[in-house]
Amino acid sequence: MTQPIDLRALDLFAFCRAGGNAAGEVAARDLPRIIAETAAQAPVSAPDEVFGYVLTGFVEEDTSEPGTAPTQHLYIDLSVNGRVWLDCQRCLQVYTETIATDMCFEVVASEEDADAAPMDDDEIDVIVGSKRFDLLSLIEDEVLLALPVAPKHDVCPQVHESLVTGVDGQAEPEPEVLPEEEKRPSPFAALAGLKTKH
Ligand SMILES: [Zn+2]
Repeated sequence: MTQPIDLRALDLFAFCRAGGNAAGEVAARDLPRIIAETAAQAPVSAPDEVFGYVLTGFVEEDTSEPGTAPTQHLYIDLSVNGRVWLDCQRCLQVYTETIATDMCFEVVASEEDADAAPMDDDEIDVIVGSKRFDLLSLIEDEVLLALPVAPKHDVCPQVHESLVTGVDGQAEPEPEVLPEEEKRPSPFAALAGLKTKH
């Protein structure tokens, strides 16, 4: 059973202890860091893109210490699905990158507890909970982390003229390796494309 939740002020501890279930949608316009990553040439409707989320809370008891009371660990599962308009680094045209994330987080009470949490599980991140937890920011984090370092079409619809035509008109092979850290196409690449048009 799903329940309505306040995306900007969720009592995450109570949600986990209650075994809460919530699902809904958030619009890209409410995620400013996603808007900042959205391609400039994206359709005007890009801020209306919605991300669906599913949040599940649960508790696990740790009984591994004999002779002591079991300790409770709180967890959430968060999955986010949607799409983001990005610039393809290969053909310089906009495309939609599909986002599909599913993460488990252990919810701890404080930064100190987060620092003390064992780092033995790569599958689970540790987050500091709150009675007014900003789930919207966590959803935004998850989408940002899912964005590719080098955005590209799986198959470009057509290769940009600047990549197939050299300045002398001779065909050049498409560059195989683009700098990983370069998230956006260089403005000079776009200029080169204009110059090769005769
Ligand atoms: Zn492309």
